[in-house]
Amino acid sequence: MHQFSRNLFRELAPAIVRTGKPERDAAERQHVLEQCEIVMRRIATEPHFKDPQRYLFQAVRTRFLFKDQRRVRQVIDRHVSEFKRLVIEDPEAVGVTFGCGAYSSRGKPCRRRPIPGLGFCPAHQDWAGIEAEAVSA
Ligand SMILES: [Zn+2]
Repeated sequence: MHQFSRNLFRELAPAIVRTGKPERDAAERQHVLEQCEIVMRRIATEPHFKDPQRYLFQAVRTRFLFKDQRRVRQVIDRHVSEFKRLVIEDPEAVGVTFGCGAYSSRGKPCRRRPIPGLGFCPAHQDWAGIEAEAVSA
């Protein structure tokens, strides 16, 4: 899955605004890369993640000049819709493993198969409600 967020980042990176301060610039690049990774991961694991293109664009747009934002949005749209298509058509090829989204008490991810559309296995289906509350809070 990482290759997809990296490919997207690689296409966006040259347009990220430079401040001339190396540390600041590195932090801005890191922010954009992290947002790409977060969005790709959410697309793969949350079937109801609404409008990821818009979400990602909003998260990174201030790192680009206004004149570049239209192209940034187009690049995001292209990569995200391609990834969404792959996740649906061939999830294993994009390295998506549909595991339960819960963690054991020792912090290990649960390996049981989730209920389709819920993201959690039967033993952890309570987590879906907890997550929804956390999101709306
Ligand atoms: Zn589970």
